[in-house]
Amino acid sequence: MADTTGFLKYDRELPPRRPVDIRILDWKDVYLTRENGEDEVFPVAAVRKQAARCMDCGIPFCHHACPVANLIPEWNDLARRDDWQEAIERLHSTNNFPEFTGKLCPAPCEGSCVLNLQESPVTIKQIEWEIIDRAYIEGWVQPQTAAERTGKKVAVVGSGPAGLAAAQQLTRAGHDVTVYERADRIGGLLRYGIPEFKMEKAVLDRRLDQMRAEGTRFVTGVDVGGDNDGDLSTDALRAEFDAVVLAGGATVGRDLPVPGRDLAGIHMAMDYLPYGNLQALGELDDPPINAHGKHVVIIGGGDTGADCLGTAHRQGAASVTQLEIMPTPPDRRAETNPWPTYPMIMRVSSAHEEGGERLYSVNTERFLGDDSGNVRALLLHDVERVDGRFQKVEGTERELPADLVFLAMGFTGAQREGLVDALGVEVDGRGNVVRDKEFMATLPGVFVAGDIGRGQSLIVWAIAEGRAAAAAADVWLTGNSMLPRPVTPTAVALR
Ligand SMILES: Cc1cc2nc3c(=O)[nH]c(=O)nc-3n(C[C@H](O)[C@H](O)[C@H](O)COP(=O)(O)OP(=O)(O)OC[C@H]3O[C@@H](n4cnc5c(N)ncnc54)[C@H](O)[C@@H]3O)c2cc1C
Ligand code: SF4
Repeated sequence: MADTTGFLKYDRELPPRRPVDIRILDWKDVYLTRENGEDEVFPVAAVRKQAARCMDCGIPFCHHACPVANLIPEWNDLARRDDWQEAIERLHSTNNFPEFTGKLCPAPCEGSCVLNLQESPVTIKQIEWEIIDRAYIEGWVQPQTAAERTGKKVAVVGSGPAGLAAAQQLTRAGHDVTVYERADRIGGLLRYGIPEFKMEKAVLDRRLDQMRAEGTRFVTGVDVGGDNDGDLSTDALRAEFDAVVLAGGATVGRDLPVPGRDLAGIHMAMDYLPYGNLQALGELDDPPINAHGKHVVIIGGGDTGADCLGTAHRQGAASVTQLEIMPTPPDRRAETNPWPTYPMIMRVSSAHEEGGERLYSVNTERFLGDDSGNVRALLLHDVERVDGRFQKVEGTERELPADLVFLAMGFTGAQREGLVDALGVEVDGRGNVVRDKEFMATLPGVFVAGDIGRGQSLIVWAIAEGRAAAAAADVWLTGNSMLPRPVTPTAVALR
């Protein structure tokens, strides 16, 4: 039974981030790391008060809004009662990696929390993080090895959150699972997209240790369907494995083919962020793309753009401007965006707190170069929406100086050449690999999970899909499955 008056006694409170002038000098998490099991600035007593704000609603909309269907009211109450070990049991029953979502999820659950009718939802995501972080500190996260082996071999292609969730579920179901990753390290966008200051790589590595101990095999530097020495052909893949899970992500970035695009100094965001991640770990002193001393413009106002912003500031950019074609979001929900749908409101990420300017309702007409072929400015104009389409506001053209530009306008789907073309699986009009209601591609025994099938999405959806595709693959291999299926391939957010 929840504390029925907690929400009346306590206001919503979150741990403060480290001061901007200090955190900007390093790459570490913007939040303080717990020392000796206790957070100096946000002790466990404060977390328990926040958990006590949960009303254990008759219909927990938060639970329905969470793609992995986390049992939020249950673990909120366990956290309130100080029963952290039972809380992590409950949390792990629905989510393989609550540390990734506890750090990185945009928390649609909080948008749907009944207290969010008053715009002060329970701090669900923070409590999720506290439960799993405490569990690691206490030594409660141990390998869970399968009681029986099936002798079936499964290949998972791609090691982002979808591939990792599928691999962990299938390994625990007793199959011999090998994860192939073409990068030199495991993790997908958790490793080379998302910067250290949002989630430290140590958080990923400790989970990979558990997976290795459970028996999942990881092979890096192998492009499945690629044609370099050491790559694995799709024929060998099909011959060697009883089932395959494709989890290669939506890696094709949306480009901006306007005049001047070929000038030097204009890069896709995902050509830039991996270097920043290596620099953060002290493995690269002078990244080939470096914002140090430069006037940086980021085109795209989402998460990827914010990650470029925080990286550029840490590299010592002279200025950073982030452009967005959409209008400035409102501070409160519009009437057309009612509770319990996801609130489309102005958000200030940690990177935005650190500086830079955000321009809304602007479009880039062309890039302007200097005599040496380097970008020197963008020619911008304002836009307005007319009949649902963006139109130029005449007379608003102006130059915005830039010597480094990052394109962070989202992703257009799965990479075709290599794996997808070589396998011959069907791709839909949106660039996503087609799957049926059993997550199976147009080839028997080949399953599809995460952004490669859903299109650019979120970590929590990737985990949910990895779990569901693993259940489908388990049925294919053994005739039945005890694994959960939190989502269908066509499930969408509450709307
Ligand atoms: C910069 C950035 C920041 C983001 N921030 C957030 C955030 O804060 N919160 C959030 O919820 N979501 C965020 N997202 C979205 C989120 O990261 C993705 O939705 C999620 O990672 C998708 O997981 P996935 O496993 O499907 O694919 P990915 O994480 O993209 O992993 C796919 C992996 O497959 C590998 N691969 C592909 N083809 C092959 C092949 N042929 N052989 C071997 N390996 C292959 C790739 O190298 C890659 O490592 C962000 C995305 C970006 C780009
Ligand atoms: S995974 Fe995301 S939606 Fe689900 S409880 Fe955690 S923060 Fe909320």
